[in-house]
Amino acid sequence: MGVTWHWTATYDLAACDRLLGGAEPERKGQASAHYAVGRSFAEGVSRYVSLSDRSWHAGVEQKLRWDGRPSTVRTKGARACIGIETVNIGYARDGVPAGPDWIGAATPDGRRIFRVEPWAEEQIAMMAAVGREIAARWPGIGPRDHHGHHDLCPTWKQDVLGFPFARVLRAIYDDPEIPDVWSDVWMPEGRQRALARLGFAPGPVDGVWGPRSDAALRALQAAAGLEVNGWWTTWVCWAVHDMEAGGR
Ligand SMILES: [Zn+2]
Repeated sequence: MGVTWHWTATYDLAACDRLLGGAEPERKGQASAHYAVGRSFAEGVSRYVSLSDRSWHAGVEQKLRWDGRPSTVRTKGARACIGIETVNIGYARDGVPAGPDWIGAATPDGRRIFRVEPWAEEQIAMMAAVGREIAARWPGIGPRDHHGHHDLCPTWKQDVLGFPFARVLRAIYDDPEIPDVWSDVWMPEGRQRALARLGFAPGPVDGVWGPRSDAALRALQAAAGLEVNGWWTTWVCWAVHDMEAGGR
């Protein structure tokens, strides 16, 4: 029903292979994926589980399913979605200093801000190739059916905050017109600006996600027919785009 993008929180593909791939992976029975995409053509792409089989890549603490509706055991990411790992160390933390080009991105609840390692150019090309393979096998999966692990598990996972969805999806679907509905609203200021433009009165555009911003987001979710949960997910990104494109 969809594609779930992840980051490995490792520096290289070999570490991900040890954990998730091969005959005796370290996390056998606990975690797997369909693909893992390295950072360079030299690393390449690893395939763990075939596209006709389930891989155990999402489900623990999962709140939402592929379309943003509440998830049940039958709609766990592991049952319903293709899982793609991308080699990325994740966010800056003790022992992992941010580079100058790292991406600022807030959690779905807007309360925590992370600095995220950018994805690599060769990696983005390989991610597109993997995506095209999935689209060929599962033609019903379109651009709006791609999401991050953090969209399914907004209170549990940070991968993949700051993900280059627009670039990857334009390349997968060979459609430069796919709008970038994500990057303007990675940070709380952008989310507040979008809410203000649409008349939802989030309070001052100050980057501080307080009760008024939360209430404004919930009002937008209600107006858009989404689940009212206060989480800024990819489905909220699309709703903002649709409201601005179509008028309310
Ligand atoms: Zn993940």
